[in-house]
Amino acid sequence: MSVTTKSPTWTNWAGTKNCQPEVIVHATSVDQVSEVVADATRRGVTVGPVGSGHSSAPLVPVNDVLLDVSGLSGISAIDVEARRVTVRAGTTIAALGEPLWNAGLALSKQGAIDSPTIAGAISTSTHGSGLALP
Ligand SMILES: Cc1cc2nc3c(=O)[nH]c(=O)nc-3n(C[C@H](O)[C@H](O)[C@H](O)COP(=O)(O)OP(=O)(O)OC[C@H]3O[C@@H](n4cnc5c(N)ncnc54)[C@H](O)[C@@H]3O)c2cc1C
Repeated sequence: MSVTTKSPTWTNWAGTKNCQPEVIVHATSVDQVSEVVADATRRGVTVGPVGSGHSSAPLVPVNDVLLDVSGLSGISAIDVEARRVTVRAGTTIAALGEPLWNAGLALSKQGAIDSPTIAGAISTSTHGSGLALP
């Protein structure tokens, strides 16, 4: 886990949203995430998670603890028969392609932009354009 404390600044991908949190924590394990959340709870401060920062809405900016989960990446379980894959929150769509292919699986559809994380995509209900492309 690495922590940036000296006047950290965060900006989203488009450069349209930013914040100056107290710290930016780069977590690389679930235990570290638990530690950060427990500490923030004790101190009564807010934790804001961030993936790839592709959201253009003001969802990420936070004054206290910005928790970057991009280091929590990769597939943790694959059930080929059920076609169910469990991935860590910071896994990008791009990072899913090869391991899925190696398991004989694939996303049913994929957008042109493959940088978002799975947690970010789920949190923002990322979708294609059109009712047939949920
Ligand atoms: C060039 C471009 C094209 C795009 N095209 C489309 C499109 O066609 N269709 C569409 O629907 N969207 C589109 N978007 C929006 C984009 O797909 C979503 O905003 C993106 O999927 C969010 O993923 P992220 O990893 O960047 O999340 P972030 O922007 O980092 O975070 C988004 C939200 O998720 C939360 N979050 C992130 N990680 C976690 C976590 N581990 N636990 C809990 N909450 C978490 C954040 O706090 C925030 O509220 C586009 C964006 C760009 C920049």
